[in-house]
Amino acid sequence: INSTQSRDSGTADSTGSSVDTIIHKVAMVGDKGVGKTSLTNQFMTSEFVAFETENDDDDTDRHVTVLLNSEESTLEIVDRPLDSQEMPSQTFDAFAVVYSITDRASYQVAVDILYHVRHQLEIKDKPTILIANKIDLVRKRKVTREEGRSVAKQYNSKYCETSAALNHHIDELLVGILSQIRLHKTPGLP
Ligand code: GDP
Repeated sequence: INSTQSRDSGTADSTGSSVDTIIHKVAMVGDKGVGKTSLTNQFMTSEFVAFETENDDDDTDRHVTVLLNSEESTLEIVDRPLDSQEMPSQTFDAFAVVYSITDRASYQVAVDILYHVRHQLEIKDKPTILIANKIDLVRKRKVTREEGRSVAKQYNSKYCETSAALNHHIDELLVGILSQIRLHKTPGLP
């Protein structure tokens, strides 16, 4: 029996259900050690992920097909610094900006990234999600929920608290990212 793992996104699959021809690129950005890689790995365990496509070009970028509201969409999760020369930021469809609630400096980096996105002409209207990670480390908390929420509001960003360690709110985050992208792509919406 042949494996169906090698289906390419962009083509209709054998069951006849439609697969997005577009791959939505999501940039996972933020300071070192905040949990970007851990969160990306946890996405793969989400019940909303229909399948993962092997990506031969670059093993750091993950392609996942998410099934939400009976519609499949393929996301390419790119875990790389925002200032990376090889990947111009305007090619992204959404920015997932991660900080650790235990690390104030990482919060400042996240705020700087949000500022950067909102002040760069080509990307200023792209959806952003501010992710407060490591919420399992309650006793080491250095950044309050109110601070996260208020800066997210200031930059017109969605706010999400997660724990990659406990696999907490990972589904909500994945669905949140895709919903933001779909909303953004709906004609007539601001
Ligand atoms: P990255 O540099 O942003 O990709 O961060 P990593 O995903 O490599 O995570 C850095 C460290 O933080 C690793 O030791 C992870 O196990 C740990 N880590 C990531 N997310 C969490 C979390 O939600 N809670 C806890 N307690 N540790 C985490």
